[in-house]
Amino acid sequence: MILLFHSHIHEKHADFLHTISYLRKLTNVSIEIHPIQGKTLKVIEAYLIGDTSALSKENLSALPGVASVVQISSDYQKISPQSNNQPKDFTYNQVTFSQETFHVFAGLCAVDTKDSVEAVMSALQSAGQVCTRMGAYKPRTSPYAFQGLGKDCLAYVFDLAHRYGIRVIAMEVTHERHIEEIHTRLEKMGNPTGVMLQIGTRNAQNFELLKAVGQQTTYPVLYKRGYGISLHESLCATEYIAHSGNHNIVFCLRGVKSIFSAPHRNLVDFAQVPIIKRLTKMPVCVDPSHAVGNREQDPLGISDVFHATAQGVISGANMVLADVHRAPPEALVDGRQAIALKDLPWFLEDIQLVRNTYQKRVALANARNESLCPNPLGFRQGDAAQTS
Ligand code: PEP
Ligand code: MN
Repeated sequence: MILLFHSHIHEKHADFLHTISYLRKLTNVSIEIHPIQGKTLKVIEAYLIGDTSALSKENLSALPGVASVVQISSDYQKISPQSNNQPKDFTYNQVTFSQETFHVFAGLCAVDTKDSVEAVMSALQSAGQVCTRMGAYKPRTSPYAFQGLGKDCLAYVFDLAHRYGIRVIAMEVTHERHIEEIHTRLEKMGNPTGVMLQIGTRNAQNFELLKAVGQQTTYPVLYKRGYGISLHESLCATEYIAHSGNHNIVFCLRGVKSIFSAPHRNLVDFAQVPIIKRLTKMPVCVDPSHAVGNREQDPLGISDVFHATAQGVISGANMVLADVHRAPPEALVDGRQAIALKDLPWFLEDIQLVRNTYQKRVALANARNESLCPNPLGFRQGDAAQTS
């Protein structure tokens, strides 16, 4: 259960102290206090953790200073859309993420050379893009495979990002130390760009790493679903991040391991986009590159990666994460699935067509909803939609 206090109630207010001292006497329930800083107001929430089944919502609502009580019966206490007073969007380095916005993060699966980074960033800038992906720390199946350039490439990646107007780079971290390395380098360079910390599918239940990205709020988190665990287990993993204090999370679908996925690398799971949007407040990303895992094409020459992307976007995905490379056969990791850089404009145009159609679907649904139940405030879902 979550108790939300009135906005004029601060931590030393007599009503707050009275209510908290009452709550602390409850048996089998522990209390966590969370001051929440909104855009203009600061409000306090108290989380009641443990066995709250005997508590009455009405009685709790009547306690001094309490504005409202939210009953949370699921495991998704912090990520749920109703869970608390947290905003449902976040802005990082001038880029806003929500279940209405849309961004493409095309870039290198793994940073290999400076030239290769520059080729991608320059192409992104020409295409009007401000986000990318750049893997520096690569979790590989074999210890003999290329492990990524690690911290050695950070300086030129961040410098080039600045030069080409890139504001957010999705970058996987596999160890708490990597967060520190990224942070130190960015600070030393005067924060020329931003990083979204990516949790890869192999670390989907690495709870210590989840807590580490959750305990900092400087960088948002891109969480990739576990490829061999249930959706519920992956959502619980994102709850760890939010429970640790960081609510700026994007949930990424990237396919699941299945013998039935062949000839794709994973079974594409983008039909689950609306499920995440229904159960949580997180923006949803799709990664067609790691889901499909190859560059095979249909008879028209449209690749399966393009088609899978379209399936995610038509269902309302808020972000696309995709591997591109100027010369895919030369890529050190996942070249088989990378889109050739020369096809980036085609990829982006194809995506935009689908996104436009999704927005028409939103308008159609809104019109239907309004005809059934007129909305006096005139708010239409999707009005705030932006694209970059
Ligand atoms: C990646 O995006 O570089 C990656 C390794 O993806 P995943 O964790 O989904 O396999
Ligand atoms: Mn990869």
